[in-house]
Amino acid sequence: MNITPTIPAKAARNAKPTPVHSRPAIALEQASVVFGSGDKAVTALSPTSLKMETGEFLALVGPSGCGKSTILKLVSNLIRPSSGNVLVGAREASVRALRIGMAFQNPTMLPWLTIEQNVMMPLKIVEPFKHTFRQDKRGAYRDRVHTLLKQVGLSDFANHYPWQLSGGMLQRSNLCRALIHEPDLLLLDEPFGALDQFTREELWQTMQDLYINRAPTVLLVTHDLREAGFLASRICVMSARPGRVISDEQVTLPYPRDISMIYSPEFVEMTQGLREMIAQVRSS
Ligand code: ADP
Ligand code: MG
Repeated sequence: MNITPTIPAKAARNAKPTPVHSRPAIALEQASVVFGSGDKAVTALSPTSLKMETGEFLALVGPSGCGKSTILKLVSNLIRPSSGNVLVGAREASVRALRIGMAFQNPTMLPWLTIEQNVMMPLKIVEPFKHTFRQDKRGAYRDRVHTLLKQVGLSDFANHYPWQLSGGMLQRSNLCRALIHEPDLLLLDEPFGALDQFTREELWQTMQDLYINRAPTVLLVTHDLREAGFLASRICVMSARPGRVISDEQVTLPYPRDISMIYSPEFVEMTQGLREMIAQVRSS
C-alpha cells in the first residue's frame, strides 16, 4: 500500500473550504480509557493518538476487545477520556456541537413506528431540524426520507413496520436513519456484521455510493478486512487489549470501487498483510 489519499472527486468538490489552520475532523491526543477503579479497573484503551481529516473514510480493525467501540464512544462523547484529549472539529467533543450519524450492528428501530417514521426520528431530535419540524418542513423532510430510502432500494417499504423487514432491509434503514440529518461525521460500529455475505456486499456498494454522493467523514469499526479494504481510504490496525494504533495506511485504490476488486491479487495481498498483522498482535 502506498500513501496516496483517495478522496472521491465529488466528495472533494463538496468538501467545505478548509481554513489554513483548521484542525483535523477528529483528533485523539494520547487519549486513554480506564473503566472502574482500584482492583476492578479495566484499561479499555491505552494512550492513543489518531487524527482524521475531513472527508476521510477510516476503517479501524483489530482483535475483539481491543478498544474499537471505546474509540467510537469517545468521539461521540458518550464517554470521556481518562487521560488525554478528544477533539472533534475545532473543539473538545461535545454532543451539542456535533452533527453525528451512528449505526451499530443491531439496528434498534422503534417497533411501533413505520420505517419512514423511524428514519425521520433524528430530525425530530437534532437541531436545526427539530426547530422547524413542526412548522412547514414536515413535507420536505418526508421527501428527504424517501430520497434516501430509494437510494438503498427501500422505496416500497416506507410504510412498513420494522418486523415486516428482513435483517438486510433493517440494516439499510439503519444507514438511512444515520444519514438523514446529513451528518458531517458518520460513526459505524460493525453495521454490516450480522448479514449474509451477499447482502453485506450489496450494502458495501450502497455505503460507497452514499460516501461518494454525500462526502461525510466516516469512522468505521469492522473485523472484516475485505470490508475495510473495499470501503476505506485509510485503515488503522489496533493491538490487542489494551489497544493502541499499531499500523496506519492509506488505501490507494480509486473510488468508485467495484466489488470484483476484492478478488484481485493486489487486494488479496493487502488484506493478507492486515490479517497477518492482526494474527501477530493476537498471539503476542
Ligand atoms: P472492541 O470494540 O474492540 O471489541 P471495546 O472497546 O468494546 O472493544 O472494549 C475494550 C475493552 O474494554 C474490553 O475488554 C471490554 O471488556 C472493556 N470494556 C468496555 N466497556 C466497559 C465497561 N463499561 N466497563 C468495563 N469494561 C469495559
Ligand atoms: Mg466493539
